[in-house]
Amino acid sequence: MMKLTDLDSARYVARRRRLAAAMDEGVAVVPTAPERIRNRDTHYPYRFDSHFWYLSGFSEPEAVLVIVAGREPRSLLFCRERSAEREIWDGFRHGPDAARERFGFDAAYPIAALDEEMPKLLAEQAALHYPVGADAAWDARAMKWLNAVREKARAGVAAPQRLHDVRALLDEMRLVKEPDELAVMRRAAAISARGHHRAMRAARPGRFEYEIEAELLYEFRRHGAQFPAYWPIVAGGANACVLHYVFNHAALRAGDLLLIDAGCELDGYAADITRTFPVSGRFSPAQRDVYALVLEAQRAAMAKVRAGNAWNEPHDAAVRVLAQGMLDLKLLAGSLEEALEKETYKRFYMHRTGHWLGLDVHDTGDYKRSGEWRTLVAGMTLTVEPGLYIRTADDVPEPLRDIGVRIEDDVLVTSGACEVLTAETVKDIAEIEALMRDAA
Ligand code: ZN
Ligand code: MG
Repeated sequence: MMKLTDLDSARYVARRRRLAAAMDEGVAVVPTAPERIRNRDTHYPYRFDSHFWYLSGFSEPEAVLVIVAGREPRSLLFCRERSAEREIWDGFRHGPDAARERFGFDAAYPIAALDEEMPKLLAEQAALHYPVGADAAWDARAMKWLNAVREKARAGVAAPQRLHDVRALLDEMRLVKEPDELAVMRRAAAISARGHHRAMRAARPGRFEYEIEAELLYEFRRHGAQFPAYWPIVAGGANACVLHYVFNHAALRAGDLLLIDAGCELDGYAADITRTFPVSGRFSPAQRDVYALVLEAQRAAMAKVRAGNAWNEPHDAAVRVLAQGMLDLKLLAGSLEEALEKETYKRFYMHRTGHWLGLDVHDTGDYKRSGEWRTLVAGMTLTVEPGLYIRTADDVPEPLRDIGVRIEDDVLVTSGACEVLTAETVKDIAEIEALMRDAA
């Protein structure tokens, strides 16, 4: 995936050392993702496991990373051997020797040697760390290795007594981004912004949602992004009120809004952007009211994204603005305090205001610790994505019916105001209308 000339193995070596230090003792096993069948004998495009990639930078399937902690930690790779025959069909393989050198491992073995080597590596070790319960086949394999060590008990060999889920340590490591990760995320954000602008220029009544989807994917790919980070949502009119709408098969209609939630994946890192704009290039007065409200909620939420604040503060700020707006628009009756307490706003705003972002679009890391929302720390990256989804109903004012708006940006927590990684994606009403006017 990553261009080999760009590879800086030092950053991966450093991460493996940090994991070894966090483990303190024992052996960690981190397999990459399996290749997956789409149907019959064709595969989905291959995507490595995020934890494995984070620690190795190695993109081939059938690979396992092993870290032996201790005073002199070692990291080992098990990977596919070179094969003149298979490389004709599937392309280049590093093989253990070249992989060890290029990716900075202390040793590397053919993947077929894993079950033979693991019991040796686990002898006299206190703990085995691996993704416990993530995959039944790996669970069974880990038990086999442990039993193989236990069989040597009479020869005086001690087997690990403890199992740990290695993901607990990795989830935390990945939560705070390093400068080189942020550089890739900024680039993923910039490519995704271009995709959204292209979509805005291409939208007009009579086009189909999938035609706009094609524009997004084209723009992502032509700038080198390997994948969309998730399947794009291209939802015209009432479809925007279906939160996970991915059919993208309807025709765009004059007078409707178009909600697009799309971002690319670059070298493993995701961008996640939502924009909502009028199919014909101009917001109606009712659409303008709803859009301005969601934008105000997003600004209020972003103002709360700062080191030292709690995870829920941006969400609570967005909810307060949105609930007041629902009262002003006559979507709700009563007082603001009542709407907040009884959560009546959830009829029109039913999701939370963001999630961690990184190698996974919904990135790793807990949101609560010991029952408390966790505190934001500089270097964390997350989305800020309030919305308002007004389905048709008798008690909803006519002009507001079937309007769905979400505005989503990716932000970096700092000790001051958050950095908006996706800031170049046009967002103000006047900017959107100008861009679409120029395209028409
Ligand atoms: Zn999102
Ligand atoms: Mg999104």
